[in-house]
Amino acid sequence: MAAADFSRLIVAAADTIAAHAEELTALDQAIGDGDHGLNMKRGFEAVRAEADAFAAKPLPDALKAVGTKLVMTVGGASGPLFGTLFMTLGKELPAAPDRDGLTAALGKAIEAVAARGKSQPGQKTMLDVLQPVYEALAQGQTAAEIVDAADKASEATVPMKALRGRASFLGERSIGHMDAGARSTALLVRAVAGAIEGN
Ligand code: ADP
Ligand code: MG
Repeated sequence: MAAADFSRLIVAAADTIAAHAEELTALDQAIGDGDHGLNMKRGFEAVRAEADAFAAKPLPDALKAVGTKLVMTVGGASGPLFGTLFMTLGKELPAAPDRDGLTAALGKAIEAVAARGKSQPGQKTMLDVLQPVYEALAQGQTAAEIVDAADKASEATVPMKALRGRASFLGERSIGHMDAGARSTALLVRAVAGAIEGN
């Protein structure tokens, strides 16, 4: 991926997180502690500040740098988890990945997030968006279909009962609200897909 393209990808991700920070905060206020919007905004603005330096690196190193920066800046439960996602993508992706390479790397990255979070899909977390995105990629769906799958998957967290993270402390009362991390993941999928499509 050309440096300019990776830089655009970072900007698209940071823009969407900034534009939706209040919404993410509101979601986390309902069933968490209300810091997810600020956490994500702080992290992605820190990544944005280094977009050109990161984009000058080979893709695997650039993704590792993004992941490391997110771990250092996002905080909360989600910081290490999003950090693990990007760091593992960097570790698993070749410099010039094709679709199969991307799919395989995302599969490994999801496994790494699940291991770190001691979590799995079905527990009302970001994994409930990541896993359907992986499946849509593996099935050869188009970018628009993948984005749609991510949106639907985030909506599908509404009726779930949280079994991981702060929302799990609420038990049954976590039902009826969208998971904040699922929403931010769907937003990132849309931003990345849009930036890649725009090439
Ligand atoms: P905190 O919960 O520490 O306040 P954030 O509000 O930034 O951190 O992030 C909360 C989000 O992190 C949740 O909405 C959920 O998607 C995700 N999350 C929390 N714990 C886990 C876990 N164990 N596995 C996967 N995702 C998790
Ligand atoms: Mg929170």
